[in-house]
This record gives sequence, C-alpha cells and structure tokens, in this order.
Amino acid sequence: MIRSEFDIIRQYFTQQPISRDDVALGIGDDAALLSPPAGQELVVTVDTLVAGVHFSPAISPQNLGHKALAVNLSDLAAMGAEPTWVTLALTLPQADEKWLDGFARGFFHLAQLYDVQLVGGDTTRGPLCISVQAMGLVPEKHALTRSGAQAGDGIYVTGSLGDAGAGLLIQKAKQVANEAVTGALLGRLEHPEPRVTAGYMLHGLASAAIDISDGLAADLNHILEARGVGADIRISALPLSAEFLSLQLENAWQFAVSAGEDYELCFTVPPAHEAEIREHFSALGCPLACIGEISSKPGMRWLNDEGRAFSLTKYGYDHFAQNEVS
Ligand code: ADP
Ligand code: MG
Repeated sequence: MIRSEFDIIRQYFTQQPISRDDVALGIGDDAALLSPPAGQELVVTVDTLVAGVHFSPAISPQNLGHKALAVNLSDLAAMGAEPTWVTLALTLPQADEKWLDGFARGFFHLAQLYDVQLVGGDTTRGPLCISVQAMGLVPEKHALTRSGAQAGDGIYVTGSLGDAGAGLLIQKAKQVANEAVTGALLGRLEHPEPRVTAGYMLHGLASAAIDISDGLAADLNHILEARGVGADIRISALPLSAEFLSLQLENAWQFAVSAGEDYELCFTVPPAHEAEIREHFSALGCPLACIGEISSKPGMRWLNDEGRAFSLTKYGYDHFAQNEVS
C-alpha cells in the first residue's frame, strides 16, 4: 500500500533495470552525483507534458511513460548526443498503483533500450503533469546545433512525416480509418520512437540538425533562420507512409509538413559527407530521405516535379493553387 511519496519513489522508481558506472550517487539523497568523462560535453534538455494540453486522458500510462522520455531523447538525438541520465518530476492527482506501475514500465522499457539511468526527481500532488530532464554526452565541440547549414548542403529527414498528426485527427474523430491504419497512426502519436542511434551517429557529419516536434516546415525554418539561408524542397521526395497516404487527406503534403509530433530528425549534410551518411543509415536500417537542398536565397520553396514553387500558409490547409509563388 502507498502511504507517502516515499513509498511511491521506493516502489516504482528506485528499483530500475539500469545501473551505470558513471553514476556515483543516484536516487535517495538530496541530489545525484554524476561523473561525465573528460573530453565530453554535457547536453541537457527538459520537456513537460501537461494532461489535456500535451496528451489526451485516453493515453495508456505505459505509452505516457514512454512518450515523456521519448520526447526528451529526441532532443538529445538532435544535438548528436548519446543519452545517459534522466530526472523525473511527477505531479499526480492521486497515488494510483495501477497507473504508476504502467507508467514506470513504459518509462523504464525505453530507458533500458538506450542504457539511460533515472538518477532523481520530485513527486508531488496536483493536476497530472510530467517533466523529464534528460542529459547526454557528446565529444567536445562536436554537438550539432541548428545553426550550421550552408548553401549546397542536402536536407534530410528520417522516417515519415505527418503520421502522428494524422493520428491526432483520428483521435479527435475528425478522420475515420480502418483498424490497421488507425493502430499504426495512433501508435506514431502515442508511442513515438526517438531516433537516438541515428542522432548520435550524425555528429561530425551533419552541419545542422533539429528534431521535428512542431512540423517539418516550422522546424526546418529554425535551421534556415539561424543562418539566413533558404531551402528548395521537392514535394515528391517528402517521405509519407502508406497508412498516411491511405487517408487521402486533402493537400496531404501540406498537412504532413505542418502537423507536429513526428519526432523524426531533420538535418543538413555537406556534399562531402552525403555518401557516408547514406551508408550509416542503411547499416542502421533507419529510413532516410533527401528532400532538397539549402540555398543562399532565404525562404522555403516547395517545388513540384515541374519545378513550380508553392508557399505554405501557416497551417498548410489552404489549396496550394492559391499560394503559388512562381
Ligand atoms: P528532497 O526533499 O531533498 O528534494 P525528495 O524527498 O523530494 O528529496 O526525494 C528523495 C529522493 O528521491 C531524491 O533523491 C529525489 O531525487 C528522488 N525522487 C523523488 N521523486 C522521484 C521521482 N519521481 N523519480 C525519481 N526519483 C525521485
Ligand atoms: Mg533535500
């Protein structure tokens, strides 16, 4: 039986499958003691998930535990970092043992996959809210930032775009689909797989990187603005899944580049490294698409196969014929 916050911590978070050598002191004291190796930089990120804002109350506790960690691992991947340690701040309306058990299982299953140790946190009562802080390591001066893209670099994305956004449409009952398609797209929304290994492999090869959480258009724009450059993107090269295409959404590509929560990586690669990147990704079995090129001319140009350029409206839902720019 749970009588206090200490029971929750002991029962669900102290025993965990991961025990790293670089944790001098983990859960149980006022703070953790960590030993980053010489020559590595510490990479730190935090993300908060608020019930009703960032997730539907219908999400299973397992998926929520997974997702709370996954979105942070995705940020570390976008820095080219290897994840190592996490802390967890949990605000719970009540101590529901079944919920806690599911949440911890989802969280630790993913943590174990990448050898990430939970080293501390905070447990309080209140409206359901989960904050995870993730820490990782990257060789000194090798971290990937948003600001290294140069004209002529290829623009790449992992996986497929728009699936989680389509899952959200289905969840909000704004779209119907058969069981298999619904399962696949909702899975992308509620159980995103962060591109951890792919991200770690990019340092030293990519010139800029970002993870796609707000939609490709918005996130790629951060890379472009950081350097005052532009992008020429081939609409037909955008990776869209069979499940996504089966929905036959109006202006599907615009939806795919505007919808959020893909948790794929978008990165730019100088021509000299493109062959190596392709080899690494094929060895990794990670789907990779080259969707266009960085240009010295600012702005984003979405090109069809005839070379005509279209601009996106903010939400990408308008008929693109009205937005034709050339
Ligand atoms: P303090 O009052 O000194 O801040 P707490 O009583 O809040 O410490 O926590 C006791 C220990 O349990 C600390 O090591 C803290 O990091 C850890 N802890 C608390 N909540 C969690 C949690 N949800 N997950 C992991 N560790 C936690
Ligand atoms: Mg204390």
